[in-house]
Amino acid sequence: MKLKTLEISGFKSFANRTKIDFMPGITGVVGPNGSGKSNIIEAIRWVMGETSAKGLRGDKMVDVIFGGTDLRAPLNRAEVIITFDNTDHYLNSDFNEIQIARTLYRNGESKYQLNGKVVRLRDIHELFMDSGLGRESFSIISQGRVERIFSAKPEERRSIIEDVAGVFKYKQSKEKAEKELTTTVGNLQRVQDILYELE
Ligand code: ATP
Repeated sequence: MKLKTLEISGFKSFANRTKIDFMPGITGVVGPNGSGKSNIIEAIRWVMGETSAKGLRGDKMVDVIFGGTDLRAPLNRAEVIITFDNTDHYLNSDFNEIQIARTLYRNGESKYQLNGKVVRLRDIHELFMDSGLGRESFSIISQGRVERIFSAKPEERRSIIEDVAGVFKYKQSKEKAEKELTTTVGNLQRVQDILYELE
């Protein structure tokens, strides 16, 4: 799976529609302080279902909408569209290309679209579940978070690595299997008791 394009419009400092094409290999974003580099990363997190305004350096979610400058009036709508190449079907979908769009209006109205179809936030979260790309994942690491990872306890660091590796799903299956095993052992014990009484 590869990140193909990102379109940002009315989101934070990106008043004009801006399209970024990601070429094969590593992409570096350079620019002076305050030019909007972090806003690009936040646009990616936002379109992938970020629900915390604080996590996007705001108080309320509508703070992500372009708030105006001395030269330009505020806008009424923020929209981000992200496109992934999914020909390897890394994301659990039959589509070879996955496009997610998130739109938010100043009155709080919002919507998500998956390949042009209106979907729930839950559908977006489910799409990224176990891909290592979910909203709580460490595939996108902000400046402050780097320090937190370095100073984390070994157990916390282990859970970070497990999160990135997408092993959470297997941990859940293991716990489920262990519970079933305990129930089965209990049932077997009861059967043995009954058999003992019958003998
Ligand atoms: P640094 O190199 O210092 O980390 P940066 O290039 O990552 O900076 P950002 O933090 O992405 O820059 O962008 C900050 C700019 O975005 C500020 O000028 C701020 O005023 C602007 N900005 C943030 N939210 C909005 C908004 N809702 N409307 C308009 N401008 C905004």
